[in-house]
Amino acid sequence: MKIAIFGAGQLAMMMIQSDKEKKHEFLVIDPSDNPPASNYAQHIQSEYNDKNTLAKVSKHCDIATIDFENVCVESMREIEKYIPVRPCPNALEICQDRLKEKNLFKNLDIKTTNFSEVNSLDDLTKYVLKNKSYILKSRRFGYDGKNQYRINPSTEIVTDLISQECILEEVVNFDAEISLICVKSVDDSVMYFPLIENTHKNGILSVSRFPSKYTHLQSDAEVIGAKLLESLKYVGVLVIEFFVKADQLLANEMAPRVHNSGHWTIEGSSLSQFLAHVNAITGESFESNINFKNSVMFNILSKFPSHDKINKICKEFNIHVHDYHKTERENRKLGHITHVCDDKNKMDHNIEKILEIL
Ligand code: AMP
Repeated sequence: MKIAIFGAGQLAMMMIQSDKEKKHEFLVIDPSDNPPASNYAQHIQSEYNDKNTLAKVSKHCDIATIDFENVCVESMREIEKYIPVRPCPNALEICQDRLKEKNLFKNLDIKTTNFSEVNSLDDLTKYVLKNKSYILKSRRFGYDGKNQYRINPSTEIVTDLISQECILEEVVNFDAEISLICVKSVDDSVMYFPLIENTHKNGILSVSRFPSKYTHLQSDAEVIGAKLLESLKYVGVLVIEFFVKADQLLANEMAPRVHNSGHWTIEGSSLSQFLAHVNAITGESFESNINFKNSVMFNILSKFPSHDKINKICKEFNIHVHDYHKTERENRKLGHITHVCDDKNKMDHNIEKILEIL
């Protein structure tokens, strides 16, 4: 099949790389110059809503998907008149807007953080209680901790805190953050990856590991996943991020695409999240016995580690280094390192040592 991917970042790159048997042809659309996936597929350098591009995709591709969730939903609806868009534009629309996402959680009886819709300074002052801490998040374009402001009891509420439509969330003193990768295929078959435990720094994912300490919450998470897949009429990979507090799951947000917390599945699973997505959207069924190995993924942000550091880690540990070949920039995701280890206790110990070197 010929698959169009809107967004040509590292997620699209790893999707294309996952198709080792070269069953499919890929076309990537991205306004930037030389994005990671453009080295592996034909690249149309244009805005996502460019009329000519949409016409080309509709005419020449069999199916469209995304590596970037903030694509123009209207454009996706336009393409959908001609070819399937997976996940569907309706799911994208909800996942692009934190308020719609939270309301969906509420409507489906999925526990989430306490939140209020905030559209003005008046709303903000009305909802903020002096003895509580909050996070003000823009409804849209708020990935990787961007467009988020922490409001502590001592924070002065000033006009420039709110410049767009937001939600105000109470801060959760969580015990852990975990994510669930859900996959639904065109033929309605569903699979879930095992829960992944994540650590963030400044709102950006830093380390993901499998197994998590919360394997006992797997079936609770899957019930939530099933509700969302069903209600969104979803096809492809959907990732749900949760806070864990007192052994309860609180849904934080979802990503309508493959996710950074699933990068370890390239080496740590017999089926990677990337191939699972490609298989799901092209209607292939999943292999039945998927194996997972203890794995940990470290994100490389801002600056790539020196050759000496990489060599040192490679000599001591079983690691796989992924370089996305992007220009260094503060807090930019430049690559990741995955460590796979048979012995879980040894892996715990190795994580500390690898972090020290990095
Ligand atoms: P988000 O973009 O909503 O995923 O937020 C990025 C990160 O900020 C999360 O993974 C958490 O580490 C932190 N965070 C977001 N919302 C909250 C909250 N309500 N309480 C505590 N931490 C939060």
